[in-house]
Amino acid sequence: MKNVTGAICVECGHVVSEVDPNTTVCPVCGGILDITYDYDYIKSVVTKEDMAKREENSMWRYKEFLPVEDSQDYPKLRVGWSPFYRADRLAEMLGIKELYIKDDGINPTASLKDRASAMAVAKAAEAGRNIIACSSTGNAASSLAGNAAAAGMKAYIFVPERAPIGKVAQLKTFGATVVSVKGNYEDTFRISAEAIDRWGWYNRNAAINPYLMEGKKTVALEIAEQLNWKMTDYVALSVGDGCTIAGAWKGFKDLYAAGFIDKLPKLISVQAECTCPINKAAAAGTTEWETMPELTLADSISVGVPRNATKAIKAIIESEGVTVNVSDDEILDAMRILGRTCGVFAEPAGAAGTAGVKKAIEQGLIPKDASIVSVVTGNGLKDVNNAIKAAGEPLKVDPNMDALLDAFKGIGDPHQ
Ligand SMILES: *Cc1c(COP(=O)(O)O)cnc(C)c1O
Repeated sequence: MKNVTGAICVECGHVVSEVDPNTTVCPVCGGILDITYDYDYIKSVVTKEDMAKREENSMWRYKEFLPVEDSQDYPKLRVGWSPFYRADRLAEMLGIKELYIKDDGINPTASLKDRASAMAVAKAAEAGRNIIACSSTGNAASSLAGNAAAAGMKAYIFVPERAPIGKVAQLKTFGATVVSVKGNYEDTFRISAEAIDRWGWYNRNAAINPYLMEGKKTVALEIAEQLNWKMTDYVALSVGDGCTIAGAWKGFKDLYAAGFIDKLPKLISVQAECTCPINKAAAAGTTEWETMPELTLADSISVGVPRNATKAIKAIIESEGVTVNVSDDEILDAMRILGRTCGVFAEPAGAAGTAGVKKAIEQGLIPKDASIVSVVTGNGLKDVNNAIKAAGEPLKVDPNMDALLDAFKGIGDPHQ
């Protein structure tokens, strides 16, 4: 890979000059590694104009920015190049000048995690491995299972027992071996790490495998291209382990370093107020975070022991970003308003970013003339129980006109 120079440890700064698909954590301190690139080389082989001509409408459109061989076969599912909408009605409702929604729920397994899982499958294939494993709050699992199935690989998946049924249904349908752990995400992560060690499976845990964040960063590359390389002032993301927001920041910095964009956005980091260890630390300007209980209904960001806190906190601080913590009610409200003003159906963690944008505007943390991208990270069909909680039950009627007229009495004139 001529574009990759190696990796650097985000904890101790140790430089690894040779990386291969089996590279995991820092050999010196066990910290998380960050893949490093030669931006002069990247600049010399691809331009914005080249990019515009590409027919590859997936995350592999950006191969010069990714740790993959040029000659490599890419995984089969079409991951990435998700829709990007200008959301004027929502902007007006929130009292902000310019707002865009990036709907990453429209990925093959319906979440942003597909970007990381596709990368994991590509690297496992490069390493000649055919069993791949991870622990997950749910979406990393279902995306790994789907991407592995498409590549003909076996997947071993560990999820906490609270994982929503939609995600578990996906896992079983994709044929993974699914272990539902009677414990929380922390317990799940621990047992998966032991099992991966024991059986030597390829490890898709995002805090251990440095390539996964490189997959996730493609959301930022797409956002920039979909904005015609004119970045907004802010980009909002919901945060659990911290890999997604750190990945997005990496993507924006890559583009900046390669001269594709001339301004970096500020990050809006959104967590649930009951479970916000990353935001708490970032707001205090420190990477020292404290464990919090996992209490939010937004299961994908219910992470009390974040696995990528250092990278995420550094990204938020470096971007001069904003931290916002939202309640479960604010998340449910954001699910309704995204649905009703944009026709976008988000799972709770998928809507949390938008809940954070709304709250940040209300609290004056963002100027009203700002431009913002809010990323919807997962689809609402993943967690229909919470969607019903957000949006309510339908009118229930007997099959006759009198009953219908009766039911309509409460909701105003049906002519309008
Ligand atoms: C995983 C996930 C997040 C958060 O990503 P992290 O890398 O854990 O911070 C947000 N939303 C959804 C839908 C997710 O699946």
